Amino acid sequence: MRPPLWRALWRGLRKRCPGCGAGRIYKRYLKPVSACANCGAALGHIRTDDFAPWLTILILGHILVPLLGTIDYFFTPPLWLILLSAVALGAILALAVLPHAKGLCLGMMWVLGLRGDEQH
Ligand SMILES: [Zn+2]
Repeated sequence: MRPPLWRALWRGLRKRCPGCGAGRIYKRYLKPVSACANCGAALGHIRTDDFAPWLTILILGHILVPLLGTIDYFFTPPLWLILLSAVALGAILALAVLPHAKGLCLGMMWVLGLRGDEQH
């Protein structure tokens, strides 16, 4: 029996199996396991494609733009420092958020029975 959508999303966000919440969903950084080691839920066939990067960019935009705008408004650092900070912070945050965003997508797609190669 599949869990409710919100629970699968939460489990995926925590990089855990959307079915049982115990098994890990990645064997490497973004490489999903073929099946959950705990409950056997098939996860490796699900293709999240561009949804996880899109979600990561959406989240990072809502963090970085106000943060850098506030820093620029109150401290007025040189432009090169703002740009360098934005690139460095953006890269670090993207690498940190992306696995969680992909886990969320994986959990959503698993609970809805989607594979990512649907034609409609
Ligand atoms: Zn599981």
